[in-house]
Amino acid sequence: MSEKALTYLKENRDVLLKKLDQFLSIPSVSTDPSHKKDIGKAAEFVANYLNQIGFQQVEVVETKGHPLVYGEWNGAGDDAPTALFYGHYDVQPADPLDLWDSEPFKPEVRDGRLYARGASDDKGQVFMHLAVFEAYMKTEGKLPVNIKVCIEGEEEIGSENLYDILKDKKEKFQADFAIISDSGMVDSDQPTILYGLKGFTGLELTLTGPSSDLHSGIYGGAIRNPAMAMSHLLASLKNENEVVQVEGFYDDVEELTNEERQLIKEVPGEDFSKSTGVKETVSEQDYTAKEHTMARPTLEVNGLFSGYQGEGTKTIIPSTATAKLTCRLVPGQVPNKIQDLLVAHLEKYVPKGVTLDIKREALSAKAYKVDPNHPLIAKAANSLTTAFGKEATYVRMGGSIPVVEWIDSNYNMPIVLLGFGTPEDRLHSPNESFLLANFDKGMETLVYYLEEVSSK
Ligand SMILES: [Zn+2]
Repeated sequence: MSEKALTYLKENRDVLLKKLDQFLSIPSVSTDPSHKKDIGKAAEFVANYLNQIGFQQVEVVETKGHPLVYGEWNGAGDDAPTALFYGHYDVQPADPLDLWDSEPFKPEVRDGRLYARGASDDKGQVFMHLAVFEAYMKTEGKLPVNIKVCIEGEEEIGSENLYDILKDKKEKFQADFAIISDSGMVDSDQPTILYGLKGFTGLELTLTGPSSDLHSGIYGGAIRNPAMAMSHLLASLKNENEVVQVEGFYDDVEELTNEERQLIKEVPGEDFSKSTGVKETVSEQDYTAKEHTMARPTLEVNGLFSGYQGEGTKTIIPSTATAKLTCRLVPGQVPNKIQDLLVAHLEKYVPKGVTLDIKREALSAKAYKVDPNHPLIAKAANSLTTAFGKEATYVRMGGSIPVVEWIDSNYNMPIVLLGFGTPEDRLHSPNESFLLANFDKGMETLVYYLEEVSSK
């Protein structure tokens, strides 16, 4: 075990945190063209860091959009595995600025938390890996495994150009497994292994009746009301037990094993009725709410609009009604196929007297899952347990990280999701922060992990 690397990280904590401050001070907001220069600066920061610690082939790879940073270190030899480390240096906009208690791009520590845009998502977590590489290179002169680094600048805007590069230069980026720290733990002191993510797909549907809003007294009774028709149509999608009624929706769903149901049961549960203000939670028939959110597909109406929205009454039959729908998918389900099934269902059940228009959501992703018994996952759990002094818990998440699914489908390598964020981090919101205790324990975990995986 590299005591030296661990000691280095402890002794150089202040220097490292200062360096992280520099990284966080660069407003690398990817969606805003006025920050183009800052994007370049953040990419340079990563490239310089890799150069300083002795990585090879370090390159700021230009794309049609923002550049990504590549670097590798192959000194561990052919007998050691190669890990691809993926992360992103771009951040979400900081607005609304007046809701921040300190400047988003002037990092500040309060109550053991480092406040800045990107502190948790994802600059802080990227930095932990770079610091661990530094600790090894400075003390041992080598890393336990071969590493390829890919830090992109477009994650917050859909990673549009990343996939082209990864497709074109497959050999360059291919590794034995990938490691990503862009997620969080279920609780601030509960080390967490994330071994599954949901996919998603969606569509928008509009029902059109009369060519304009009509007087409800003159026409009510003869003309189908699109808002009412929409209600019927939406109600046909799911029954009162949260079971989706679209034919074929569950056909390809990978059933939960007893072992997984046990793992899910052991996840320390958040009481949703407390944190959300609802009186009662629901779940799919025959499944618990935790199973439903983590590992069963869902269908939700995300937006619904029709008719008069102002104060008071306006006695009309609205001309149109629109709804936005998305589904979160689980392993086995194919997004395009689910979209087709939804379309077929809606076309079959659309009431008479209105016409149906469907806009298919272009963005979609398949779900991702790695076997929780995979040795790479077991080793990650061991490392977390050692560093945090608490048994790691295994979770699947209802959210999606499209890049994970992409790497899985196109590179066919296992992906280890080692996230150190906490539920209090306020990602994408004002006052984003990162728990410094996790900065320390996270780096410790990564040191253990690199050693654990060093033998193939
Ligand atoms: Zn992120």
